[in-house]
Amino acid sequence: MSKIRIMGLGGIGENGKNMYVVEVDDRIFILDAGLKYPDVDMYGVDAVIPDISYLVENKDRVEGIFLSHGHEDHIGAIPYLLRKIPTRVFGTHFTICLVENLLQDNKMNIKDYHLYRINENKTLTFNNVTINFFNLTHSLPETVGISISTPDGAIVYATDFNFNTSNEVRYLTSFDKITDIGKKKVLAVMAESVGTSSLGRIANDTLLEYNFKEILSRTKMRIIVAAYSTDLSRIQKIINLAVQHGKKIAIIGQKAERIIDVAVKSNYLAIPDASFTSLKYIDDTNTNLQNDLVVIVTGVRNEPYSMLVRMVKKEDRLIHLTEDDSVVVMCPPVPGTEKQALNCLNLLSRYNASVTNFGKDVLTSAHASREDLRLLYAMLKPSYLIPIKGEYRHMYEHAEIARSLGYNDKQIIQLENGLTANFVDGVLMPEQDREFVGHIFVDGTLTGSINEQVIHDRETLAEEGAILIYITMNSAERKLLEQPKVLTKGFCSSNQSDFIPKLTELVERLVTTYFNHRGIDESVLENQITTEANRLVAKMTKNTPIVIPVITNVTKLSVEEKKTVQRISEKKDKE
Ligand SMILES: [Zn+2]
Repeated sequence: MSKIRIMGLGGIGENGKNMYVVEVDDRIFILDAGLKYPDVDMYGVDAVIPDISYLVENKDRVEGIFLSHGHEDHIGAIPYLLRKIPTRVFGTHFTICLVENLLQDNKMNIKDYHLYRINENKTLTFNNVTINFFNLTHSLPETVGISISTPDGAIVYATDFNFNTSNEVRYLTSFDKITDIGKKKVLAVMAESVGTSSLGRIANDTLLEYNFKEILSRTKMRIIVAAYSTDLSRIQKIINLAVQHGKKIAIIGQKAERIIDVAVKSNYLAIPDASFTSLKYIDDTNTNLQNDLVVIVTGVRNEPYSMLVRMVKKEDRLIHLTEDDSVVVMCPPVPGTEKQALNCLNLLSRYNASVTNFGKDVLTSAHASREDLRLLYAMLKPSYLIPIKGEYRHMYEHAEIARSLGYNDKQIIQLENGLTANFVDGVLMPEQDREFVGHIFVDGTLTGSINEQVIHDRETLAEEGAILIYITMNSAERKLLEQPKVLTKGFCSSNQSDFIPKLTELVERLVTTYFNHRGIDESVLENQITTEANRLVAKMTKNTPIVIPVITNVTKLSVEEKKTVQRISEKKDKE
């Protein structure tokens, strides 16, 4: 008999930053810690990760983090999490290989952290809780589901899977393990929702394989295949077929692609040595134009597309596309990258006669379809269902599937990030708690975070442009050394000629007033200029660009610096 709380810190109502928390009698078990790729209007943000303040505040209660698989939306926040909470990490061999690589990328020494490799035969015990794993089929090998057994039944976490049975061993689902879990009491299942719009699990990659085989036998020249590096199972299929046809394989990626790199090094991507080749940079003696070559171009999001564009434009260092090449695109655009994908396909069609594009209609989704979810629930027979991972429309469809299986609305728990489902002695309580959740924007490595103000400024800069006001003054002598200069960047107004003199006049007046008051500091002047200039610009142009006053106070400068100011000032005059 126990108290159980379940919530998402990320992943519910959105696509990405999956991170869920299961608490059993005060012990906290974290399921995955992922990142989300930013929306198109989040300028300069590389990733968004969940706010983990709740876990930091309760870090003494954290038992560990348990990983389902190695995609970035499930492991990408781990470096950040481990810096704040140095807890234990459990995952399959391949997942932990990816985590190690991620930590090293973030200049973290893997020896300082507690990373444990598990497999589905391992049982972990934490007082009255035991944790087991079962293999699932996904686009990465060694993806697992997680079963947390409590005194009131098991809580099963099954995210990112489909029940496609036509895969290689490292990708197969352990149906026996799932049905075994279902033979005992299952309190709740937390299953993904993103694939609910696809109907059946009958679809598989047969059509892709058939078509690719046909291209291989028809084409006597080079073949360039664009694929997502996250889609390892499909890349393996392409490699197998190419090897069967006596081709040489080269894999190239924008940066060193983590998943591909780790998979090749740890033998998860099987390429016979005799078939694997690395390309040298193109120069006078080397063109990389071998006829027997299949080049796999990988990356995440728009990267495969931008690489193809570089190849068409002959800007790439390894491949310059020719009319003899066959291009195969098997990376349907993800939300936010559709435009770049279309531009690339148009460009390819213009310059290259042979392009085959495999869309979502041909490629099997790596996520649970409606039929997959029905089968999962039939095997596990949970008392409660908690749809996770997906936007609200996906979670709505997920709830519909549950209803069609005879579950009533009290058994289908619809959460939001931060909202808890509370169970006491195996019964769902009507009350829910709301814990603080948010998101953290990060750029570059996961060390520094960007706040909302920075994003807002970047948005304004991109959409409205900027006005720079240069003020050169001598505060000791209390005088303005020259008339303020106004420069606009990315901003243009029909009455530009009108407002610039007005703005100059305003700033001149503000500086003069500043000098008439003793003891006012420079930042006060700066703020005053920003506020007043914003007001004037908004009034005259109906726009709100960013106004940046640049004050040079020569009193504070050395003789050398004064000379530099003089030179810059002369240069600005010429502009
Ligand atoms: Zn995944």
